[in-house]
Amino acid sequence: KLVSREHHERMTTVRVGGVPIGPDTFTLIAGPCAVEDPEQTLEAAEMAKAAGATLLRGGAYKPRTSPYAFQGLGETGLKILADVREATGLPVVTEVVDAHDVELVASYADMLQVGTRNMANFALLQAVGSVGKPVMLKRGMSATIEEWLSAAEYVAQRGNLDIVLCERGIRTFEKATRNTLDISAVAVAHGLSHLPVVVDPSHSGGRRDLVLPLSRAAIAVGADGIIVDVHPHPEQALCDGPQALVDGDLRALAAAVRQLPPLL
Ligand code: PEP
Repeated sequence: KLVSREHHERMTTVRVGGVPIGPDTFTLIAGPCAVEDPEQTLEAAEMAKAAGATLLRGGAYKPRTSPYAFQGLGETGLKILADVREATGLPVVTEVVDAHDVELVASYADMLQVGTRNMANFALLQAVGSVGKPVMLKRGMSATIEEWLSAAEYVAQRGNLDIVLCERGIRTFEKATRNTLDISAVAVAHGLSHLPVVVDPSHSGGRRDLVLPLSRAAIAVGADGIIVDVHPHPEQALCDGPQALVDGDLRALAAAVRQLPPLL
């Protein structure tokens, strides 16, 4: 298989607008869960950059569980992201939820994110695989690691091996956290695939107080990076405020990332 380790001696480094994600580095990706307006996005990006983030995350298309929840700004949000990239120099990672929007999103984004709810949307995977931009593939919340790697294979088959796997927590019986971060999945995926693996401690825990400990766990298990939510005013956030980091949290996170053990 294209994504499996068997035929690849070296682990893959994926470059996103020049920023590497792979075995020789640890990449901090941060930004708002959702793009809400230009000011909030710029402020969040500046917070992210000050903490050492080298890539900006932010959703313009939000796949929400409830149809009544904020669905994102669509193309307006993509334009805001492009302006904030211009202002901060941070390349942009953003989600695409519909195969028909792939070209539009790719025209603004540096990396296309496929979210947990779309991991097995094969038409979407094939479309993102064909458009020539790096892809962040989140693990389906109820998907096995094998299913996750098969989903990556759909992207790879279209000629795109610039894929980063993202463990973002899975459904278990446990209710204390929104999802259960499957930390072992990072090591298992690294054993099976040459693709980089990052962790999303924000969407797995769903709680601000868990982001730092889960990030430390990600660092310890050998993840190639983390992707975290930040917000200048989480109490006013239109999406996932309770998990967004604020300035003080980010300083602690930046310190944890700086204290990384030497890379193996
Ligand atoms: C996100 O990262 O914005 C997101 C919606 O994550 P997930 O698909 O993991 O729920």
